[in-house]
Formats: sequence, C-alpha cells, structure tokens
Amino acid sequence: MSDARFDFDLIVIGAGYGGFDAAKHAAESGLKVAIIESREMGGTCVNRGCVPSKALLAASGKVRELADKEHLAGFGIHAAPVRFERQKIADHANNLVANIRNNLTKTLERAGVTILRGIGRIEGSQKVGIRESNGVDRIFRVKDVIIATGSDPFVPPGIETDGRTVFTSDEAVNLEWLPRWIAIIGSGYIGLEFADVYTALGCEVTMIEALDRVMPTFDPDITKIASRHLIDGRDIDARSGVLASKIHPGCPVKIELSDVKTRELLEELEVDAVLVATGRIPATKGLNLDSIGVKTERGFVPIDDTMRVLLDGQPVPHLWAVGDVTGKLMLAHTAAAQGTLAVENILGKPRSIDYRSIPAATFTHPEISSVGYSELDAKALAEKEGFELGIVRSYFKANSKALAELESDGLMKLLFRKDTGEVLGAHIYGLHAADLIQEVANAVSRRQKVIDLAGEVHTHPTLSEVVEVAYKQASHQLQKSLTEH
Ligand SMILES: Cc1cc2nc3c(=O)[nH]c(=O)nc-3n(C[C@H](O)[C@H](O)[C@H](O)COP(=O)(O)OP(=O)(O)OC[C@H]3O[C@@H](n4cnc5c(N)ncnc54)[C@H](O)[C@@H]3O)c2cc1C
Repeated sequence: MSDARFDFDLIVIGAGYGGFDAAKHAAESGLKVAIIESREMGGTCVNRGCVPSKALLAASGKVRELADKEHLAGFGIHAAPVRFERQKIADHANNLVANIRNNLTKTLERAGVTILRGIGRIEGSQKVGIRESNGVDRIFRVKDVIIATGSDPFVPPGIETDGRTVFTSDEAVNLEWLPRWIAIIGSGYIGLEFADVYTALGCEVTMIEALDRVMPTFDPDITKIASRHLIDGRDIDARSGVLASKIHPGCPVKIELSDVKTRELLEELEVDAVLVATGRIPATKGLNLDSIGVKTERGFVPIDDTMRVLLDGQPVPHLWAVGDVTGKLMLAHTAAAQGTLAVENILGKPRSIDYRSIPAATFTHPEISSVGYSELDAKALAEKEGFELGIVRSYFKANSKALAELESDGLMKLLFRKDTGEVLGAHIYGLHAADLIQEVANAVSRRQKVIDLAGEVHTHPTLSEVVEVAYKQASHQLQKSLTEH
C-alpha cells in the first residue's frame, strides 16, 4: 500500500538499461513508480550503444566472411565478389533500435510505470523535480529515488567534433557514410568494434592510442594474439604512445599527433573522418546533487555495494544510484543488475553486488571476453593473501569445432588459486568468446573450484571444450602441487 505523503514510491531518473530494470522490477513488485527520460527511451545501449553497434557488427561480419576468399577456399567454396548496400546495413541497425526501444517502452507501460518526459533533478531529500519537454516544471514528493542517468562520450581537449567528419560512437552507429580513410582515436572495446566494422566494409583505418600499447585495457597475452589478427592482419595502421593533440573537422580532417610524454609535434595527418573513442564520462550535469550535499568522485556518483548513494562515506537515506553514472564496470548488464538489486534493497530484501563475476565482451571477429581478476590483480591478491597463483592456457587450435570452422586462432587463460582451487578469472580471445565466458562467470559467481569443474562433461564437439580443457589442466596442476607440498 503506497504512502499518501508521497506522489510515488519510487522515481527513477534515466531510462537506460539500469533505469529500465529498476522501474520494471519495482512496478512488478507492487510499487508506484515513475521514470523520467530526457532523450530516447532505452538510453545509450538501445539507441547509441550495444544494439546498433552489434547490428552493424553482424552485417559487416557477414561481408568480411564472404569476402575472405582464402578462408572460403579452405572449404572448397568460391563465392562471387561480395556486394553490399551501406544504407541497408544502416537501416538494419536503425530498425532494430526502433523495435527494441518500442518493446522496452511498452514493457514499462504494461508494468504500470508512469513515463515522464523531461529533465529530472534532485530537489533535496525525497523530492524530485522535472523540467518537462513543454517547459513546465514540476516537483514530486517521493519515498525513494534512483539516479540512473548513465554516461556520454568523452571528447578530450583539443579535439573538435562536428558530428559528420569528426564524431563519436553516438553518430558512428548511424553509418551515414563510409570514409575511405578513418582515424580511430582509442583502442578500447568501442574503438576495436568500429575498426572491425569499418575494415570489413573496405575502409582504411589508422588507430591512435595514447597509452604505451594498443588494447591497453586487455590482458597482455590476449592482446598479443588478438592484435595479430584484429589489427596487424587488417588494413589498420596502429600507433601507440601517441596523442591526437588537435583535430579540426573538415574535408580533409586535420590531425596533429604529438608525443605523449614530451608533447612534441610528431606528425600531421589528413584523413577523411575521425571517430573519437576515448572513453565515457558520467552524466550528472544538472542533477542538482548539491541540494543533498553529495559530492561526485571523478564525476561519478559514489555508491556502496547495495547501490546506496554515499555522502562522506555514509549512505544517504532513500537515495540510490545504478549504471554507468556510478562508474563500476560500465556495461549494460552491470547497469541492469544494479537496477534490480537497488530495488530488492528498497523492498527490504538485503542484497549486495558481486562485481567480480560480471563478464565483459568485445564483439570483434573473433570476440574477446573476460571475467574476474586480471593477471596483475590476481598476482597482487596472491602476494597479499600468501597463496600461489595458478595460470593455465587452453588453445582453440586443439579444439575440433574451431578446426572444423577453420577458425582455430584463439586462447583462453584461466587464473585460479593453487591453495583452494577457486577460479579467480578468465580471459578469452577466439570464436564466440563472448558466449564462452559465461560458464566461467557462473563459476566465479559460485566461487567454484577447478577440481569440481574439471569433472563436468561438455558436449563434443563444441567450443565449450576449450573451457573444459582449461579446467582439466588447472585441476591437474592443482593436484600435482598438492602432492608436492
Ligand atoms: C558504442 C557502444 C557500444 C556498447 N556496447 C555494449 C555491449 O555490447 N554490451 C554492454 O554490456 N554494454 C555496451 N555498451 C555500454 C552500455 O551502453 C552502457 O553501459 C549502458 O547503456 C549503461 O546503462 P545506464 O542505464 O547506466 O545508462 P544509459 O544507457 O546511458 O541511460 C541513461 C539515460 O538517462 C537519461 N538521462 C540522463 N540525465 C537525465 C536527466 N537529468 N533526466 C532525465 N533523463 C536523463 C539519458 O538520456 C539516458 O537515456 C556500449 C556503449 C557504447 C557507447
């Protein structure tokens, strides 16, 4: 039964994946819920992120496959030269976006969520303001508030965007044209995915990375094998330790490249287009967090593991935050999990999140995925807790299914504790790595041990046997080290 002192039990600010899951779960649990959205329903993932980028990757991946004469000849197949229509590929992405956005909006309406269109803000404790699209300003009294305002592309100083020749992923997902030569600034997962799309569709790519190696956020062993195929094996000129210090839009686009350390001008490039993929920043502007005294940390809203917003390390009553705006593993499924979990806590069912078991994937061809600790962090943990770190590698070239597909380039690295056998993490590069990681993520979530996992039978012939081999090797190593000590 809703409290008459309040207009709503819950107001969610932002209808991205985080806000959507929170609002839906709360309404289905009987709360009176409103969600405020200033742009398109569905947020980044549906409109400018996961959904359109994966549609482009699916289409361009097929072009790549059909154009790979050598690969096809391995099966004795000789296809006609591949033709594609850029506009139809773009339409595929746009139609999918419209479809998913529509479904998501209807789902919320069916669950009984009130959808408010406008810019939301905090107006002190248990109050939310909204500047509606028609200019009307309203204030609601509300029992609990969830901030789910997400993130926007980060454009470093010195880079000017015009949305046409110099743009971010927000515009790239529209695939409005195909530049002959495009520079991609940043070699994180967004830069890599778009490099995959552009090279498949015949564009030449220059990849600029400011850190001292390309793919700096990935496991070094995975980077070594993946970059050989995804970067060196394609029409990509990758440069690391180089800063794109100035970019002017136009025809051509002018780029100044400087040395990261000395800031000395190294080179000037003239390209047809630039995609700026240098990370994302939290969307907190105009949220009026000052009205409750909350200070952001590097722009992110500080939370604890139950999604309560923190002020000087202490939870602010009735205020929660989820998704990219909190800066934790900025992925759609993290946002959704946080959203559901915040509502569970609001409902008085205490739950906290386990970030260690949340997997991440890059949908290049082939894919890259990971879960749990990096090798560096696992080593630090081993040192701190005084255990030996186990590392095993399982190769796709020993997997029958990968060999049958003539796609045996791939590696899985498994990290585990040599004292208890607990799985600490995994890093995979290879065919369907994004699907394969889920099995390890479940094991990490249940804190399972390699000895138990090694006994689980996997279907033959499937790629999942790459994981089975890793578990078996780890179990063997563990038993050997236990008998030695
Ligand atoms: C190109 C690209 C590809 C990606 N691919 C993947 C992928 O494959 N898998 C994956 O897991 N993740 C992917 N992501 C990341 C994923 O999109 C984000 O992690 C996810 O969208 C975060 O969800 P969120 O709900 O926190 O925020 P968002 O999706 O950013 O939604 C926040 C919403 O809040 C609204 N808003 C902001 N301020 C206000 C306000 N004051 N009032 C009202 N509304 C407001 C915004 O308009 C927005 O709609 C990708 C991102 C990009 C850019």
